[in-house]
Amino acid sequence: MDSFNYKNGKLFAENVDVEKIADSVGTPVYIYSKATILDHFNKIKKAYSAIDTTICYSIKACGNVNILKILADAGSGFDIVSGGELFRAQQAEGDVKKIVYAGVGKTDEEIIAALEAGVGYFNIESEAELENVIALAKQAGIKTKAALRVNPDVDYKTHTYITTGKKETKFGVDIERAQKIFEQYGKNGIVDLCAIHVHLGSGGKTIDPYCDAIKKVLPLIDALRGKGFKIEAIDLGGGFGADYQSDYAPSAADYAKGIIPLLKDKKLKLILEPGKSIIANAGILLTKVLYLKQGGNKKFVIVDAGMNDLIRPCLYEAFHFIWPAKVLPQFEHLKRADQLDIKGLEFVDIVGPICEGADFFAKDRAIPPVKRGDLISIFTAGAYGYTMSSNYNARPMLPEVLVDGDSFKVIRKRQTYEDMIAPERI
Ligand SMILES: *Cc1c(COP(=O)(O)O)cnc(C)c1O
Repeated sequence: MDSFNYKNGKLFAENVDVEKIADSVGTPVYIYSKATILDHFNKIKKAYSAIDTTICYSIKACGNVNILKILADAGSGFDIVSGGELFRAQQAEGDVKKIVYAGVGKTDEEIIAALEAGVGYFNIESEAELENVIALAKQAGIKTKAALRVNPDVDYKTHTYITTGKKETKFGVDIERAQKIFEQYGKNGIVDLCAIHVHLGSGGKTIDPYCDAIKKVLPLIDALRGKGFKIEAIDLGGGFGADYQSDYAPSAADYAKGIIPLLKDKKLKLILEPGKSIIANAGILLTKVLYLKQGGNKKFVIVDAGMNDLIRPCLYEAFHFIWPAKVLPQFEHLKRADQLDIKGLEFVDIVGPICEGADFFAKDRAIPPVKRGDLISIFTAGAYGYTMSSNYNARPMLPEVLVDGDSFKVIRKRQTYEDMIAPERI
């Protein structure tokens, strides 16, 4: 479900006409729906209610503190990958024991901050990192828990930049090496290595890789328990499907149906780290048409958002559904339709103002005709949208707006030119 729908030819975020937001905040602007965020979170919670499950929302997908607070209040923990994300998680005032900390390159300062904060688990990616966490924990006199990230070598079938569960990636360790690591470091007395973590990638479309990964990891857990290691949890990471293109991505219930039977009698707590599946289609990027331009046989729609605001199309060749915010009645129901051989649509390239050929949102895309000044919505932009944006071309960072029912509020103000250069020194 999402809460961005057309009524009488106009796009609404929940009950708010997005044009009203553009009038008040300007464009481009990220707009999120609180109802969608909570709906996704609660659906996951419900789907896994048969087993002891902790949901740790992945902050890197979209880290605005206001959104983190909504999730923390709903009972979510957090998956963090840096000291900065730890700081964000702390501002959200959730349960620190529900924080899991992943990442292949944790610095000493970040590790110490996480130890002092009292995070739930360090997700360990290598022997060298584990040795360092043990050393720093000893120095600080703080006990902690850790999960070993293993690489189950399953093919996630997504873009290579977002595949992380294959053998030849930089993430985690092989299953074979995992046993040795437990034998060498498993009883160090300060960092309790008591869980297994996997994270397969992002943007998958099927449940199979998760089931395959569990089936590969359970024998490891049995073997480790046989050797006297207490394994209390399995963390399946994130990467659960979000709907970008059609109306189909496996739902939380679909995943749970495959996953729960495999874990039911294993005396394992389950940890999930969803990012996209909670926030992706809870957000849109609203942008305005600046110019139309003909180039050879191509028609370009030049909008005021650029690749610095939403880099997914250019970085991952990601598909985002794009549709004007105001349409004629015959186009209204077409949101996410995949049959676009409808009369009256035009094939265009939708591009940004940045001096790079890669600055595009869609190529040869059929949309209803638009003109200068029209608002266009780039859907499913909630995840890895704002968080991956930059000041490239000295473009100020965008505002973020949260809609809740009939009202909206600015949860991040638009950066000004002065904000942008404030940290610089002459
Ligand atoms: C990025 C990431 C996630 C979230 O992935 P989504 O595709 O957004 O669900 C979860 N866990 C780890 C370790 C990650 O790196």
